[in-house]
Amino acid sequence: METCIACGAPTDKVELLPTYDADVIGIPVTLRNGVLHHSCDSCGFDGIEILDSENLSAAVAVARILLPIVLSGAEIRFLRKACQMNGKQFANELGCDNATLSRWENGGGAGEVTERNIRDTVWSLLYKRVPAIQVEPGHFKRMETYRLNDGESLPRLVLERVRLKDSARQTKSDEWDIYERCAA
Ligand SMILES: [Zn+2]
Repeated sequence: METCIACGAPTDKVELLPTYDADVIGIPVTLRNGVLHHSCDSCGFDGIEILDSENLSAAVAVARILLPIVLSGAEIRFLRKACQMNGKQFANELGCDNATLSRWENGGGAGEVTERNIRDTVWSLLYKRVPAIQVEPGHFKRMETYRLNDGESLPRLVLERVRLKDSARQTKSDEWDIYERCAA
């Protein structure tokens, strides 16, 4: 028996949703097996709970940087937030000054070389939070990106909850993974 997340009463009306469409800071995502639907007879609560939501933003950020589509300014801001940094901290990680970062975030993004640096830095800051997602060394440093045509929108990112087994340490954990990796 589970407990209601609103009132704490026991309830058996908790259902794992096979898919759930959401918007994570402006990026459209589909979450597979990672959202619970709760309903409660005691208090009338009816709503959803996203599992491990603190690491979901990291997984969405990593899924986004693996997509070889040029980053918009708003997306660079989203990546910084997923890294839980303010402008000064993130600029420091990128090796630029805060005013430059702010110009990228509020304007049309950064150039191609800078994009690679941003992706590589974001990966180095987030990989520990997404242990199910594997990226080969140097991947972002040689990544070729392209721009969307007018009227095209970002493809929906699909993430799923997976059970990760660490045979060396004999531990298991549930983590966010990318369901379909776009060929880059
Ligand atoms: Zn309740």
